[in-house]
Amino acid sequence: HEVRVCMAASCQSSGAQPVLDALSERCEGGSCKVKGVGCMGLCSAGPLVAVTEVGEQGEDPAKDPILYREVSAADAPEILASVGKQPVERLRCPTDQPFFTRQQKIVLANAGIIDPDSFKGYVAAGGYFAMIQALTEMTPAEVLQEMTKSGLRGRGGGGYPTGLKWSTVAKMPPGQKYVICNADEGDPGAFMDRAILESDPHRVLEGMAIAAYAIGANKGYVYVRAEYPLAVERIEKAIRKAKRAGFMGNRIAETQFSFDVEIRLGAGAFVCGEETALMASIEGLRGQPRPRPPYPAQAGLWGYPTLINNVETFANVAPIIREGGDWFAGIGTERSKGTKVFALAGTIRNTGLIEVPMGTTLRDIIEVIGGGIPDGKAFKAVQTGGPSGGCLPATKLDIPVDYDSLRDLGTIMGSGGMIIMDEGSSMVDVARYFMEFCMSESCGKCVPCRTGTLQMHGLLDKIAKAQGSVQDLALLEELCDMVQATSLCGLGQTAPNPVLSTLRYFREEYEERLAAAQ
Ligand code: SF4
Repeated sequence: HEVRVCMAASCQSSGAQPVLDALSERCEGGSCKVKGVGCMGLCSAGPLVAVTEVGEQGEDPAKDPILYREVSAADAPEILASVGKQPVERLRCPTDQPFFTRQQKIVLANAGIIDPDSFKGYVAAGGYFAMIQALTEMTPAEVLQEMTKSGLRGRGGGGYPTGLKWSTVAKMPPGQKYVICNADEGDPGAFMDRAILESDPHRVLEGMAIAAYAIGANKGYVYVRAEYPLAVERIEKAIRKAKRAGFMGNRIAETQFSFDVEIRLGAGAFVCGEETALMASIEGLRGQPRPRPPYPAQAGLWGYPTLINNVETFANVAPIIREGGDWFAGIGTERSKGTKVFALAGTIRNTGLIEVPMGTTLRDIIEVIGGGIPDGKAFKAVQTGGPSGGCLPATKLDIPVDYDSLRDLGTIMGSGGMIIMDEGSSMVDVARYFMEFCMSESCGKCVPCRTGTLQMHGLLDKIAKAQGSVQDLALLEELCDMVQATSLCGLGQTAPNPVLSTLRYFREEYEERLAAAQ
């Protein structure tokens, strides 16, 4: 038997380390093995512990592990004594609930199962097989073809076709090229990339290496925010171990391919998630965006062609190469293929990390998988896409979630953060909060965003405090259009979205505050 303890940041913050220590200490010499693993998803019920039977052939997929919730170190003896016998019912977390049964895991397939610090564990789970397959049996053009066929679109929020992006960099004349993994996750309430890096770092490296092979690059960077110390530690270890095993660094045996990866730490500026600002930051300059074109694919890091994808995008690469582009394209909707990882936060019963096929409805995500709103309260809105996204009301719960349907409704998929709000939330306050966020994160390079976000925040503050007038609301709407149309980068261009979407769906709340001011 294997006793797995979730050692991702969320479970660690609720006390997983003492649980792991207590189990390891008591188990020594026993018949079972205790190991730390990555995120199991149900963060609100941590620390989570799973007990599973592992035979000669590995784990029996037909048998669900026994999952325990809110485990403390004092529970260790009872859990260990129960292994192979009757489960400890008082700690049991049912795994036949929709939170587990309605998910489809591709990106998170290893999360909560393998030890993220173990190279051997990743390889045993089929890791680096896709990279070997690409290097030994496929030409770079064939890899590109498979990626294009898969229909994968950028998971960082833009939704740009990944195959097309890779092909553009591949078509640039041979010479120095770079691959960058954007792990500068900054949306409030979003923790998908952190969890992927903490749970399965080798998978991200493998995706980067396959991308490098396809486009003809030999150097990569993982740009990760310093506020994610555990993710940084795990990706650092993974790079070290992959190098030691000969999968990274020098020329890989029998091939002409070599790929070296370095980590660059971001200092927490939200704008550094924007690709041109991110590259400036890697170059040691102030992290500020620059106009495009030229696009990074043409002239990126130090002027060389550069491929930038986000963590989740790279995590999809190995399964696509292993199973084929057609397999991936068979999942999801017509124009959004595959699965998407979402972080559920706010007033929802099952706070945590989920992965569902594209096209799953918001209702299924929030009410079925997420367990709905706690304390008998009513659902009011869901905010998708962070400060660049918008708020959707209950009438939109039945839309299938994909890039295009969300955009049509005035919000965006973004990187996958979902903040759920109940009837007690004020949407004017929500819009003010996100505007304050954009105002303080604006890098100040262009006037519309630097001054516009400040002015819009001032107007929102006035309206929220019931001191505003009808003219203030009209001015706010005018400013939204202007800032959206004239800002230099995505931060400013999308900063008005939370205001516009709350005005679209919850206008009466603004009007109530204005009426209160009379
Ligand atoms: Fe900087 Fe905002 Fe202009 Fe982007 S839009 S360059 S964040 S000031």
